Amino acid sequence: HGLQPDAVTESICGYCATGCSLRVHLRAGEAVNLSADTNYPVNLGMACPKGWEALAPLRAADRATTPLLRGPDGELHSVSWDEALRTMVERFRGITERDSAEALAWLSTGQIPCEEMAFLGALAKFGMGMVHGDGNTRQCMATAATAYKQAFGFDAPPYTYADFEESDVLVLVGSNLCIAHPILWQRIMRNRRQPEIIVLDPRCTETAMAATRHLPLRPKSDLALLYGVARLLIENGWLDTGFIEKHTNGFEDFKAFLLAGPYALSEVNAASGLDEASILSLARSIGSGKRVSLWWTMGVNQSYEGTRTAQALINLALMTGNIGKPGTGPNSITGQCNAMGSRLFSNSTNLLGGHRFDREEDRAKISALLGIPESSIPTRDSWAYDRILEGAERGEIKGLWIVATNTAHSWCDQQRLRRVREGLDFLVVQDMYADTETARLADLVLPAAGWGEKDGTFINSERRIGRIRKVSRAPGQALADFHIFQLVAHYWGCGEPFSNWDSPETVFRMLTAVSRGQPCDISGISGYAMIESNGGIQWPLRESETGFSTERRLFADGKFFHPDGRARFLFDAPQAMPEPPDGDYPFILLTGRGTSSQWHTQTRTSKSPVLRKLYPENPYIEVHPSDADRLGLRAGESVIVESRRGQMSAAVHVTTTVPGGSVFVPMHYPAVNRLTLSSFDPHSRQPSYKACAVHLSRIRNA
Ligand code: SF4
Repeated sequence: HGLQPDAVTESICGYCATGCSLRVHLRAGEAVNLSADTNYPVNLGMACPKGWEALAPLRAADRATTPLLRGPDGELHSVSWDEALRTMVERFRGITERDSAEALAWLSTGQIPCEEMAFLGALAKFGMGMVHGDGNTRQCMATAATAYKQAFGFDAPPYTYADFEESDVLVLVGSNLCIAHPILWQRIMRNRRQPEIIVLDPRCTETAMAATRHLPLRPKSDLALLYGVARLLIENGWLDTGFIEKHTNGFEDFKAFLLAGPYALSEVNAASGLDEASILSLARSIGSGKRVSLWWTMGVNQSYEGTRTAQALINLALMTGNIGKPGTGPNSITGQCNAMGSRLFSNSTNLLGGHRFDREEDRAKISALLGIPESSIPTRDSWAYDRILEGAERGEIKGLWIVATNTAHSWCDQQRLRRVREGLDFLVVQDMYADTETARLADLVLPAAGWGEKDGTFINSERRIGRIRKVSRAPGQALADFHIFQLVAHYWGCGEPFSNWDSPETVFRMLTAVSRGQPCDISGISGYAMIESNGGIQWPLRESETGFSTERRLFADGKFFHPDGRARFLFDAPQAMPEPPDGDYPFILLTGRGTSSQWHTQTRTSKSPVLRKLYPENPYIEVHPSDADRLGLRAGESVIVESRRGQMSAAVHVTTTVPGGSVFVPMHYPAVNRLTLSSFDPHSRQPSYKACAVHLSRIRNA
């Protein structure tokens, strides 16, 4: 009877950006169980293992339950909230007075709701005077956001999930949808148009195996291949010239670039390793006049040339008019549950609501709407994540506030983090757990409530704003991040401008006002009740709009967000891999998601015994049989995997899922980022996690 629910409510899942709705079963207001929501337009009654186990991380025995301050003995000790906040303010104020507020920064997350990320960004910049802050969306979505912004004039994924079911041809690039977004793969399985599913991926992933066709291109040859396909579209006249002429700029320049460059079929065959017939067939499928959708995730985004690669996909959609119509689109699938919220409302590299810090009229608008002095709004963008860490390495950033992200596990080239830590005078980590790799480095740990213990909204990959709800009390003295930000504002002495930021819904209403007139205008959403009664609402929804449908896509009218209303063709010649394999480090290391049962750094999902059973506890490395034979490696034996930056040990998994000459280690194991490279896309500053050179050696007497 203890588990017999007396009420049920709905909340959006707090892991990936699919944005499934979960029905949470309550007893006396506390969650006792959950099931997948059968009525929500996203997941239609489905959930992946992480969603089904979403309550387990809340009940973990090792939750952070009191603030912890590092004492003179070098250990973290329990202190009161009062002492914790007084110390944080004293140490951060000391840095501000000695250096400047620019020596403070924050790193945040796509895991907290819009209202909390807006509060953090507003408090840090408008209240505490910081200039620099960024989120872990830099590690997943920055490339897609930048690609869209440059091509369309705003960060605007154009699609709706119904497009999975309405396409004739789906091209998945660097996306292992079957395990990364399993519910979205199920949406493809519901497609009744007998679609052709084409997967471009160096690995023979679960998705590649399930596809109509798998094109196993060489690692990092995607940009050359996509340019080759674009050239074939031109050479064969497989173009929507009416769309190009009416709605785009730059096509003639792109055409000249393709015809002058090394993108003939034979050259692209040499670059990608794919046979000419397969490349031609891919181009024919895209240019066939059917409904074509092009989908990408981290295989594209986490690359030193990710922005141009994403734009090469956007170019293919523009050339063939595959945008704004059912079953079409150049479609980035987001990673985290609220990455889109972060992109719009984190106040880090964009002023709230997709505005610009360097535009006076935008600053005046935000100042007037929020009652914040215009002089407190910075006139320039924040540094991106990598620049903030570099700033700490150089001693320019002295105080860092990390909220709900595990930098010490997830950031590339981990050995540099030691120098980052040494450069910091004071590190505050705000998290659900005090045992993350990052929290262990902190001077001060602030215990935070997690998903399920607070209210707010998330925005999913298809721009759908959904509600999350408090269904459980946070343990001990842990507080909702929203409440922590209120307290910090008070202790900092800047509480006055935030005195009306008194509840998540009040802040949500402010955000709807801030968005008015922007492409992401949601001024037509009156409050949480409207979101709940409509199965979530996709942006935009302007105040003037009365009726709207559950599934809406952008650009149906062919009007883009640049001032001239036209989309842009953007391109650059492919660059050499920053660290190609050589005699010393002969393998290309690929990294990525290893399972649908673990989330990123396993911070929460490892707390579930059910999910732990679904995934090996110790790191493993996928090695092709021919390479295993050559090196004399047996399945299951441990090897040392070494790059120029560090090493880790891993058990050998001999498999044909990786091509010869490449190896794969899942990102869920912290040691993998001892190996990865500090290399970034120049436009998005996103790390290039997908390719660096490594060496394998047997452990003697193993
Ligand atoms: Fe759905 Fe993603 Fe949550 Fe799984 S993790 S239930 S796919 S939102």
